[in-house]
Amino acid sequence: MVKYIFVTGGVMSGVGKGVTTASIGKLFQFRGYNVEAIKIDPYLNVDPGTLNPIEHGEVYITEEVWEFKPVEEFSLKISEIDQDFGSYERFLGENMSPEQNITSGQVYLSVILKEREGKFLGRTTQIIPHITDEIKRRIRQVAMKKKPDILITEVGGTVGDIEAMPFLEAIRQFRLEEKKEDTILIHVTYVPFLDTVQQQKSKPSQHSVRTLQGMGLQPDIIVGRAKKPLAKDVLQKLSLYSNLPPEAVISNPDIEVVYELPLLFEKQKIGDYLCRISNLPIKEPELDEWRNIVNLYKDAKEVVHIAVPGKYTQIVDSYISIQEALRHASACSGAKLKLQWIDTEPLERDPKAIEILKKFDGILLTPGFGSRGTEGMIQTAEYATKEGVPYLGICFGCQLFFIAFCRSVLGLTGANSTEIDPNTPYPVVDLLPEQRAIKSKGGTMRLGGHKVLLMENSRLREAYGKSEVVERFRHRYHIMPKYAEIAEDAGLKVSATDETGKIINAIELNKNFFIVGVQFHPEFKSRPNLPSPVYLAFIKEALKYQKSKNSC
Ligand code: GLN
Repeated sequence: MVKYIFVTGGVMSGVGKGVTTASIGKLFQFRGYNVEAIKIDPYLNVDPGTLNPIEHGEVYITEEVWEFKPVEEFSLKISEIDQDFGSYERFLGENMSPEQNITSGQVYLSVILKEREGKFLGRTTQIIPHITDEIKRRIRQVAMKKKPDILITEVGGTVGDIEAMPFLEAIRQFRLEEKKEDTILIHVTYVPFLDTVQQQKSKPSQHSVRTLQGMGLQPDIIVGRAKKPLAKDVLQKLSLYSNLPPEAVISNPDIEVVYELPLLFEKQKIGDYLCRISNLPIKEPELDEWRNIVNLYKDAKEVVHIAVPGKYTQIVDSYISIQEALRHASACSGAKLKLQWIDTEPLERDPKAIEILKKFDGILLTPGFGSRGTEGMIQTAEYATKEGVPYLGICFGCQLFFIAFCRSVLGLTGANSTEIDPNTPYPVVDLLPEQRAIKSKGGTMRLGGHKVLLMENSRLREAYGKSEVVERFRHRYHIMPKYAEIAEDAGLKVSATDETGKIINAIELNKNFFIVGVQFHPEFKSRPNLPSPVYLAFIKEALKYQKSKNSC
């Protein structure tokens, strides 16, 4: 028997519904239940891989590549999914399947392709029942395949959005089809604080609950997102206007360590309440392990300063998994992370601007696409190599580090990636062979989990402590082996390859300091108590570097 929990959002998006959903899942894990999550994204993109990270946030990569095959003759590979899966995997410690991210694009495409196949012959194909049936089928399919005790489905966006309507209607029907105690609806709503009157305001939330009710959906729990814990009168109003007992309304205030949120919910007794309304036995939650993890973050004494030069520095969500991986590695090294985003475009205009990097203990160069801001990023890699500042390049960041090395050490003036400069005299980074014939953009990169072979006597091998790992990839270009061979004679080491030995998966400087580039994305596998070995090695080196700087 699966208990289905649905999470909707009220008032506005971007208030941390993903973390809230993950934290609610955690409450069930504390009680020994098996938890899986689904994210519904009402946009028409089939997957978020084609979305701009500034607009949409990070694209998360799963280990699994899922074959989306709505009808016999049509299939797509999906591994690029919504960033909320990062929160689910980090909080719940489980690898999710791309099948758990349901987009309007997938749902409509399935229904239309089935209509062409003749599946609905003689009938008018409609939102109700065809689209809503497809949505319900997808949710039940995850329940059937993964067999969790609890399946939480988060609906992206905000109640009232036109494109989310079919999903909310499907949930209404779903609740009717299941037993009352087998579905729960949680509404996460934003409660603003009005400076002029120094008060939290519940009115927008009242309206969003009413919109939900108008669609035939009565929430069972209201979670109020606000700067501070909800005031007593706000809690009372929300309970009164939502037809809910007071214990069904809880606070979700800003907190310093996000991993503390499940414990904060536990304090408000919502775990027991959820069990009660779904007829699950009341069990004592096992909180010690999670408490110890949270304390790691709270008790960290040292501070590590990391610079992240890049292009998508406008919103922090563009690189949320990288931030979290750095935070995990820092906390597990007894340090708090102080991260500074550095826009690389100004570095290109002013040669002195690079000096800003002096005050940092480490530099992380981010993944990315296109050419804007890349010259500045290459300069930061060059700076790190020259100054011996611990450096970690991720994917694009690794390719740019290679370009910097080719230019400054091998003297290949104008060396570049053909992605940035198609006419470069030295195409040291170029398309992967299988990418040459690919024209369409969606889901066509080299994606998902692949084996990585780690070379002996490398920092990378030392960091992992083994010779073979699986890491997650998302790229079209790679370091050209021909140039890597030349670079190897000049002090660069190829520290990892794929199974064939043909694709270079990591490079590092053969020197005393930590200058490492990885073609993969280790951040997606980092967990709050199990930091990625690469990130951990980087942070430990950064702390060492900080001490050596201070003692000079
Ligand atoms: N644009 C580069 C490529 O496609 C790097 C991609 C990335 O950083 N994820 O290979």
